Amino acid sequence: MRSIKEVNVRGKTVLVRVDFNVPLKNNRVADDSRIRASLATIRFLIKKKAKVVLLSHLGRPDGFVDSLRLLPVAKKLESLLGKTVHYIPDCIGVNSFVEKLNQGEVVLLENLRFYSEEEKDDKVFAEKLASLGDIYVNDAFGVSHRAHASVHAITDFLPSFAGFLLQKEVKALSGLLKNPLRPFVVVLGGAKVGDKIGVIGSFVKKADAVLIGGAMMFTFLKSVKFEIGKSLFEPDRLSFAASLLKSKKIILPVDVVVKDRRVLSVRHMKKSSVGFDIGPLTAIIYSEIIKKAKTVFWNGPMGVFEVKPFDKGTAAVARAVSACSGASVIGGGDTISAVGKLHLKFTYVSTGGGASLEFLEGKKLPGIAVLKYGN
Ligand code: ADP
Ligand code: MG
Repeated sequence: MRSIKEVNVRGKTVLVRVDFNVPLKNNRVADDSRIRASLATIRFLIKKKAKVVLLSHLGRPDGFVDSLRLLPVAKKLESLLGKTVHYIPDCIGVNSFVEKLNQGEVVLLENLRFYSEEEKDDKVFAEKLASLGDIYVNDAFGVSHRAHASVHAITDFLPSFAGFLLQKEVKALSGLLKNPLRPFVVVLGGAKVGDKIGVIGSFVKKADAVLIGGAMMFTFLKSVKFEIGKSLFEPDRLSFAASLLKSKKIILPVDVVVKDRRVLSVRHMKKSSVGFDIGPLTAIIYSEIIKKAKTVFWNGPMGVFEVKPFDKGTAAVARAVSACSGASVIGGGDTISAVGKLHLKFTYVSTGGGASLEFLEGKKLPGIAVLKYGN
């Protein structure tokens, strides 16, 4: 990958794909870790007198959705940079505005995913984005596992470089988990079961134990005929989950906390139960396994941590991962946000959830491959 250090950006309009997919609460940024993570790249470009055009997505909108506009993100970035950040409520057809930027100025364009073409890696859409600038920089490790227009097709149209965050993530993750010290434990939770369940197969080969929490646990439990009530699960992945369970390395919760806050054995969930967290016994069992590990990788909260008391399982796992004597690596937007208030230390914190999983699995990430080998 060519670094942004290798190009003269003075007076050039530089399009920077960042991953500002941050949690919002009451229309404010609830956790700014991902914004902070790209400050080095943005500050560098400002200092080098580029005109900085930031591109990001937020959430999974279907068309233009007011609650997923990037204005609160622009405000947060402005306070972190201590400098005006312009905001344009669109990302297409805004060339005349971008042309008025002065050297060292920053603008954040509107949520890329308001256009369905973004996720389709649409070339025409990518070309329209590319027409806004002279140089493209990918600093969005968290979306580099997706062949989307703003991380993939756009590199067809502009000289393309890696930002500092992208470089740092690739270096850290390649180094940390190349030859993991054993026991190597992987902890998986979160909500994007469909996206993430696929990687478990390869982690079963690489790791010594794979601990499952979050919504993902219910797909596994249901696959072997446990009652999971109204808990979230992935109907298409039941038989796949059942086949993975042939590996004794996959460890499932023994108890859960359900929506009415009761703790139930996984054998005693009812048709009306909704599982929101791993139970206290599971938290103890998982913590013991994690603490003995020499390498831990964790992605995905163990429960609906945003709502108390369903944050307890996640907090217990976070403390155990942090207490592990070997390398502790965590990743994912919500995972970072969940541990944010706990003031714990980890060997490495990745901004990417799905991206770090696929990277560690050994897959070529489309957004990184195009920077290395071209499109
Ligand atoms: P990350 O961003 O760290 O990669 P995900 O986006 O996959 O993680 O998942 C985070 C989300 O998972 C959180 O919003 C959390 O509320 C949700 N979640 C965790 N456990 C459950 C559950 N049992 N039921 C529903 N949602 C859950
Ligand atoms: Mg998330």
